Amino acid sequence: MDFSLSDEQRMIRDMCRDFADSVIRPRAEEMDRTGAFPYDIVRQMGELGLLGLPFPEEYGGAGADFLSYCLALEEIGRGDAAVGITMEAHTSLGASPFYLFGSEEQKRTYLIPLARGEQLWAFGLTEPGAGSDSAGTETHAERHGDTWHIHGAKAFITNAGTDITGGVTITAVTGRQPSGHKEITNFIVPKGTAGYLIGNPYHKMGWRASDTRPLAFEDCQVPDVNRLGERGDGFQQFMAILDAGRVAIGALSVGLAQACYDESVSYARERHQFGKPIAAFQAIQFKLADMATEIELARLMYYKAAWLHMRGQPYTKEASMAKLFASETAKRCADQAVQIHGGYGFMDEYPVSRYWRNVKVHEIGEGTSEVQRLIIAKQL
Ligand SMILES: Cc1cc2nc3c(=O)[nH]c(=O)nc-3n(C[C@H](O)[C@H](O)[C@H](O)COP(=O)(O)OP(=O)(O)OC[C@H]3O[C@@H](n4cnc5c(N)ncnc54)[C@H](O)[C@@H]3O)c2cc1C
Repeated sequence: MDFSLSDEQRMIRDMCRDFADSVIRPRAEEMDRTGAFPYDIVRQMGELGLLGLPFPEEYGGAGADFLSYCLALEEIGRGDAAVGITMEAHTSLGASPFYLFGSEEQKRTYLIPLARGEQLWAFGLTEPGAGSDSAGTETHAERHGDTWHIHGAKAFITNAGTDITGGVTITAVTGRQPSGHKEITNFIVPKGTAGYLIGNPYHKMGWRASDTRPLAFEDCQVPDVNRLGERGDGFQQFMAILDAGRVAIGALSVGLAQACYDESVSYARERHQFGKPIAAFQAIQFKLADMATEIELARLMYYKAAWLHMRGQPYTKEASMAKLFASETAKRCADQAVQIHGGYGFMDEYPVSRYWRNVKVHEIGEGTSEVQRLIIAKQL
C-alpha cells in the first residue's frame, strides 16, 4: 500500500493551495455578501488550467489524473465553497459528458473551449417535480425530421446563466423502452437557442456567488447532431457522470471541513477565558481531535474512490460513501467550529458562520444523503 502522492499531484495541490490562500480566501466574505459571480477569479482559474484538469491536452485540458482534479477541488473548496462548486459543476457535470460520450466533432466544438476555461457549461438533470427520482423526468423531446423539439423545465442548474456560459446538456424523455421505462436521451442546448429560457438566479442560503437558475424549454429546437451519444443512453450517461461527481463533491466537502478546522485551531489558541487560551481546555481539544480524525478519514475515502475510478474498477459504492461521509463530516465540523467560536461564530464577520450556511447543500446536491444511503445499501 502506498499513500504517497506523485510529484505532479503534489504540485497541483500546492498550486491550488497557494491560489486559494492568495486570491480566493481574501474575497470569500465579499462574494458571499454580494452574491456576485467572480468572473476574474474564474478567468484566472482557466488560465491556470484548473477548468480542464482531468481532460487530455489534445482537447484543451491539463492532462492530469482524476485524483489531481479532486486534490485541486479540496484546496479550492477550502478557499471558498462557491468557487469550488463552480469548478466542480463545470468540470464534472458540464465538460465531462462531452469527453465521455461526445463524438469527435462534439469534443472539438464544445470540450476544447470548456477545458481551456474560455466558457462554462451546465448539466440539467433536476426538474421541479423530479429531483431524487431523476428518472422521473418530464422534459421531453420529439423528433421531426432532423430536428428535436424540446418541452419542459429544469430546476437548480449550476453555471447555467453566467456571461461566459456556453450552454447546458439536458436529459429528456424521447419515448418508452420495451420494458415500459422512460427512454431518456441527453441533448446539447447552446445558450441563445430559440425557446431556451434561462430564469433569474435563485437567492440561496449558501454557495451564494455560484450561479444557480431555473430553465425552461418552450418548443426549443436542436438538430440531431446535438444528441449526446445514442438515443436512450441518457440514464446510463448521467449515472456515470454522477459517480465521478460524487467523489468530487466528497473532495470539496473535505476542503470545507478543513477550513472549519483551520479556523477553529487558530481561534482556540487566541481566545482566552478563565485566564487561559480555550485550546487549553480538554473539551475544546476533544472537538478538534474529532474534527481532525473525521477529516483524515473522509480524505482517505475520496482518495480511495478516485483511485478505483482511475484503475477502471467499479467504484459506485465508494463514490457514494465518500460523498456521504465527507459531506456529513463537513457539517459536523462546521457545527463544532461555530461552537468553538461561541457567540462570535454566529456573527457574519467570522468565516465559520458562512461555512455553516454553505455546508448544508453538500448533503443535498448530486444526490441527497438519503439517496447515497440507498445507493450504498443496494451495493451491499
Ligand atoms: C445549489 C444547488 C445546485 C444544484 N445544481 C444542480 C445542477 O447543476 N444540475 C442538476 O441537475 N441539479 C442540481 N441541483 C439539484 C440537486 O441535485 C437536487 O436538489 C437533489 O438531487 C435533491 O432533489 P430535490 O431537491 O428535488 O429533493 P427531493 O428529491 O424532493 O427530496 C426531498 C427529501 O426527500 C428525500 N427523499 C426523496 N426520495 C427518497 C427516497 N426514495 N427515500 C428516502 N428519502 C427520499 C430526500 O433525500 C430529501 O431529504 C442543485 C441543487 C442545489 C440546491
